[in-house]
Amino acid sequence: MNKYDAIIVGAGFAGAVCARELAERGGKRVLVLERRSHIGGNAYDCADGAGVLIHQYGPHIFHTNSARVFDYLSRFTAWRDYQHRVIANIPAPDGERMTYPVPFNLTSLEAAYGPEEGARLGEKLMAAYGAEKKVTILELRQNPDREIAALADYVYEHVFVHYTMKQWGQKPEEIDPNTTARVPVFLSRDDRYFQDTYQGMPLEGYTALFERMLDHPGIEVRLGADALASLKVEEGRITFEGEDFGGTVIYTGQADELFSFRFGPLPYRTLDFRFETLSQDDFQGYGTVNYTVDEDFTRITEFKHLTGQTLEGVTTIVKEYSRAYTGAPGETPYYAIINDENNALYDRYRALSDAIPNLHLLGRLAEYKYYNMDAIVDRALSLSDELLAH
Ligand code: UDP
Repeated sequence: MNKYDAIIVGAGFAGAVCARELAERGGKRVLVLERRSHIGGNAYDCADGAGVLIHQYGPHIFHTNSARVFDYLSRFTAWRDYQHRVIANIPAPDGERMTYPVPFNLTSLEAAYGPEEGARLGEKLMAAYGAEKKVTILELRQNPDREIAALADYVYEHVFVHYTMKQWGQKPEEIDPNTTARVPVFLSRDDRYFQDTYQGMPLEGYTALFERMLDHPGIEVRLGADALASLKVEEGRITFEGEDFGGTVIYTGQADELFSFRFGPLPYRTLDFRFETLSQDDFQGYGTVNYTVDEDFTRITEFKHLTGQTLEGVTTIVKEYSRAYTGAPGETPYYAIINDENNALYDRYRALSDAIPNLHLLGRLAEYKYYNMDAIVDRALSLSDELLAH
């Protein structure tokens, strides 16, 4: 007799939403196995030594167009209304620095080219693509008009190429086009990073949200648990602690690791975060500043702007450095490197998983995808619907 109806590996958004759904809506007894010493996955936040609420695994800003996702999460948190704004910080010809909004928009254009020339080019772009339209940098670079092509080159050079080289070790045209399409040129005065209907930060932080989500009598969470030591996938069946397990297994970790890397490791990018606590109220005036041309880090995020925390004389910032994931102990795989070759490798692992009917891969790592938080909540709700319909 198994004590659990479902085992979920990972307590990030994918795992926690499924755990709640299966326990609450399905009346299932759910065991969540989490390797880390805390819940929340990469959305985990906590107070640092100075009392500043930080995101230990990099900045997470919630945004969605899905009423279902927003309403669902709103059961576990109130929200702080927050509209994320990002500026590019670029060396200027006079030796100073200049800044303008990212995504590159009509305001950026005027900052880069001067008010008159910028306005004229803006008109020209809007005549070509339409006002309030979003145009990806790769699309803009296809434009045959000489002036627009020169402008596209400017944006490519000042916003995309160096940042993308730092983040991915490759040029914009070499990576998955959906990645640069996340930050299109925007023919608008709207200088927000996201235009989604719902945007905000969990009022008491992400960790508190996860605590409430996982607080259900049907859910048991084991922290510091090495799932793959007790959960084995062999010859089309699953065993847990040495016995056959016929219940549902939702796995949100790395697909290659689940199958002992038998086809070789899937490539990822990892990040090194350097946190600095400074004795000042405000360091940069913005949630995030992207260093799109120089510096070794990609961006600096100052958490107080995101969280709205009011603390006098102290602030914490984080610099992000991207590099290839090597699988060394302590490294975290943050981004799948999506291309045909890697997708084909992933598909081989996926086929192994698909052969086991009660095994479900879910999330950024398990599905080898670039999911935003809302997309994974949506996927988790859909998978739960599917599982509960049977
Ligand atoms: N990007 C860029 N310059 C920027 C911002 C983004 O070149 O100032 C490109 C870069 O390739 C990056 C991608 O757009 O990886 C997606 O950016 P986003 O901010 O969505 O990345 P995330 O926050 O998920 O790391």
